[in-house]
Amino acid sequence: SVPLSYFASIGRSAREEVLIKGANFVDVLNSTEIVAFDKTGTLTKGKFSVSKIVPKNGFSEDEVLMLAAVAEVNSNHPIARSIVEALGERMEAMEPESYREISGRGVIAKVDGKEIVVGNDALMHELGIEHDSCDVGGTAVHVGVDGRYAGYIVVEDEVKEDAERAVRELKELGCRVVMVTGDSEEVARRVAERLGIDEYHAELLPEGKVSVVEGLKKNGKVAFAGDGINDAPVIAAADVGIAMGGLGSDASIDVADVVIMDDMPSKVPRSIAFARRTQRIVW
Ligand code: ADP
Ligand code: MG
Repeated sequence: SVPLSYFASIGRSAREEVLIKGANFVDVLNSTEIVAFDKTGTLTKGKFSVSKIVPKNGFSEDEVLMLAAVAEVNSNHPIARSIVEALGERMEAMEPESYREISGRGVIAKVDGKEIVVGNDALMHELGIEHDSCDVGGTAVHVGVDGRYAGYIVVEDEVKEDAERAVRELKELGCRVVMVTGDSEEVARRVAERLGIDEYHAELLPEGKVSVVEGLKKNGKVAFAGDGINDAPVIAAADVGIAMGGLGSDASIDVADVVIMDDMPSKVPRSIAFARRTQRIVW
């Protein structure tokens, strides 16, 4: 049977906007030694804004933005939302004839008979579209039209107010902190430095995040916190899967063992501290 103090702890954590989906996860949280975070939407706000448009090969800024927005109009990815928003009222009521989301890379759409590709370096590389590789201070979203490079859009996100505190408190609890992301090496390095994270893995596909977590599990109990649809497999793979309740996709919330309702990463160290106090009461 489950000791009463577990229920007290779960009730207490619920008031802290942390839902723990079962008493056994109090045990696992208590013995968690490694905490891995997804970057976008977990440590950062996941609200991008367009900061720069760099057209190439005779395209104009407006054309690059317009093409990207039409291709992205049906995507729920925060990058897609920011591009559509940047166009604002100038957004024409255009619908792509077809549209495909390439998880962790971007989208491919057919618009007016043209194939529009919007996404990261890896996607351009894979499709053989020659593009600029650039350290631009944010995430470069490349745009290709019928195999021709049209330029890139720079989007930027901000770290959450409590992200630095979350990392510091986890270190104080003796946890190893790791960041994983599908974003570029440059963006990952900047965010990691800013937050005091010594270990990060960038340019990962969703499967790559799972491999990193599987590898970490050889060294101790691993908690993984994420938000996106892409993160569901890695949340499921961790010893304790944590989802952001507000920003999180339904898929990630479904498979999670712990849900942070207010999306604050600092609730991760709080939950671990709770679990440790609960254990002391039990034994
Ligand atoms: P993260 O791991 O940071 O949460 P994702 O796995 O969602 O990020 O995406 C990884 C990268 O793939 C993004 O940084 C972006 O470059 C690219 N990407 C994914 N989806 C889109 C999209 N809809 N439009 C443009 N780029 C995208
Ligand atoms: Mg994410």
